[in-house]
Amino acid sequence: MTLANNDTITAALLKALKNNAVPTVRDERTAQATFAAISVANGGGRDPRLLTGQLDVAKLSHNDSGRYWQSIQYLAPARESGIANVCWWSTIGCRSVCLNDSGRLGMAPAQIAQRVRTIFLVTEPAAYLVQLRRETRLQKRRAVKLGVPHVCRLNGTSDITYDRVSGLAAYLPDVDKFQDYTKRPHHMVAPAGPGTAWHLTMSATERTVTADDYVDGMAVVVNVARGHDLPRRWYGRPVIDGDKDTGDIRLDDHKTPRAVVLLRAKGRARRSAAGPAKFVKDATDMALDAPHRSHYVPDRPRRRTLESILTDITAGR
Ligand code: SF4
Repeated sequence: MTLANNDTITAALLKALKNNAVPTVRDERTAQATFAAISVANGGGRDPRLLTGQLDVAKLSHNDSGRYWQSIQYLAPARESGIANVCWWSTIGCRSVCLNDSGRLGMAPAQIAQRVRTIFLVTEPAAYLVQLRRETRLQKRRAVKLGVPHVCRLNGTSDITYDRVSGLAAYLPDVDKFQDYTKRPHHMVAPAGPGTAWHLTMSATERTVTADDYVDGMAVVVNVARGHDLPRRWYGRPVIDGDKDTGDIRLDDHKTPRAVVLLRAKGRARRSAAGPAKFVKDATDMALDAPHRSHYVPDRPRRRTLESILTDITAGR
């Protein structure tokens, strides 16, 4: 069976968007019923949801001192749904430590829900959009009650180019800002700014090796345990503590020029090998405070051998 991919999914959304007028209450009921039927048929609940609100997720409950209300969609990452590859630019490294099966996201009901959402997106894109519009409206109500903007992250565990589906942001007026992490190539990421609907943060992978591979605002997973300090600089760049300073909200990162965002390894990533050419980077083994370098340089001075010392003495050095 050919899996749906980023191109087929975004093309289907675009087509559905063109055919979709503003949905009526009846349209919304039909979409919810379709979603529920898919959910029940795949072992899920009768009242499925696409979006999870900020306070419903332990990982985010420390988040951002109430400056934003964040809603997140968790799909079944990569090819795990069996129906689509929703992480076209994923790597072996990121797939092996993907957060989708750690903590609450790893529990059976959450895994089923991820798969159900992915099936719904792929098989019923028009109903999916109606449901997404309705749920963003409900999430916005919660944000309004708190008096904060509603930030929506559609790629909690996927990497679909929603930002390239023309008209999608206008179709979802109850989202104040979309933000996502992505592993797509740099040239496919439009610059983020106050006037744009989408804020994308590039993520480092095992392909990010030399200082030149890092770009402004890039998120990097490092082998630093929870509660421990991060390095102050990364290849000469300032560091933003992605777990502490702003929670998962990346909208203000551009205020620190040239910075990278360091994230402490969580879930399976904590046990993963770390290194410059690994998905998890080794924060203890690099010339982190050194000025900008074009290549990885080990931080430790080379140990001199007895032979080289004798050679120097003999040569009068
Ligand atoms: S791209 Fe992101 S969501 Fe997809 S497998 Fe990699 S880490 Fe997981």
